[in-house]
Amino acid sequence: MRIPFLSFEYMNRQIKPEVMKAFEQFFDKSWFVLGDSVKTFEKNYAAFNQTAFAIGVSNGLDALHIALKALDIKEGDEVIVPSNTYIATLLAVSYTGATPVLAEPDTDTCNINPSCIEAAITSRTKAVIPVHLYGQSCDMESIISIASKNNLYVVEDNAQAHAASWNNKTTGSWGHINATSFYPGKNLGALGDAGAVTTNDELLASKASLLRNYGSDKKYYNEVIGFNMRLDECQAAFLDIKLKYLLQWTEQRQQIAEWYNNELAGIGDLILPFTHNQATHVFHLYVVRTKRRHELQTYLSERGIGTLIHYPVPPHLQNAYKTLGYKKGDFPVAEELANTCLSLPLWPGMTGSQVREVATIIRSFFDGK
Ligand SMILES: *Cc1c(COP(=O)(O)O)cnc(C)c1O
Repeated sequence: MRIPFLSFEYMNRQIKPEVMKAFEQFFDKSWFVLGDSVKTFEKNYAAFNQTAFAIGVSNGLDALHIALKALDIKEGDEVIVPSNTYIATLLAVSYTGATPVLAEPDTDTCNINPSCIEAAITSRTKAVIPVHLYGQSCDMESIISIASKNNLYVVEDNAQAHAASWNNKTTGSWGHINATSFYPGKNLGALGDAGAVTTNDELLASKASLLRNYGSDKKYYNEVIGFNMRLDECQAAFLDIKLKYLLQWTEQRQQIAEWYNNELAGIGDLILPFTHNQATHVFHLYVVRTKRRHELQTYLSERGIGTLIHYPVPPHLQNAYKTLGYKKGDFPVAEELANTCLSLPLWPGMTGSQVREVATIIRSFFDGK
């Protein structure tokens, strides 16, 4: 690919000396699991995320699972999730034995629609998981207000939105307990799998911390039936280095999105990303929509431009969730998004001329050239 969908080259070049030094220290120290690097990163990430606590865990899916377990979500409970999210949001609910209940997104922001949450509430509903999709915060004030009126827990899925906010309050700091992922391609990415749980609640923080480590606080004494879902020391050390660059990289993402917005305005039937005026968008992904998505993706690929689809099959139409009993047509907004969305190349370090090159090819596609 001439212009890949994602490149780590620029970020890696910036951090390489620090990462190599951190790796050497880690290697020489030979303390591999739950040590000072995890503690330091947890402290720094909690401060960055504006929560009292951050608990480093193995990945984003496990972070969601731990968050729900800490709230004692279990069989017989229902948890409301967006109909257009990544499958992990539903899987975590299923692991607890609870049932995921889908609510449609807003057509402009692609984030869960608060009135659809309200419509999905039953006597069994225990929690709602807003997902800050593509890097834009959900309408957290409306969601918190619906949740408190109905006695529901809020668990934010902040995997795609490190450093985003709603009315200047950070995503991942609104819910009772929240989850995030540091999968390599996320805005803050480890050099492998990693994740975190964030909360302001001391009791939930200590539950999460027990759950990630065999239910144990003191070695060989087990308080609850926990998991092995720990964050590695070396990943914590790498994340701590990358965290220092996150705001700078976020600004670059936003600049690239602005370049795309200017270059792609008014072309064909293209729908560009919509940012709500109370939200900051950290552009984990720059997602456009068109009825000719398949043709456009092929056209770009033939000209060396990498794109991806987030996501081609909505959860209710996945084989894994046949058991929920949904069918095609049940969630028309999610289905429309799945059929029309296309994520364009975007990474810190991408240049204005690369953005122009992508835009020129998209323009020539719609011009029929
Ligand atoms: C990436 C992602 C996850 C899962 O994170 P992993 O670290 O890959 O387990 C969960 N939810 C959303 C919205 C994601 O984008």
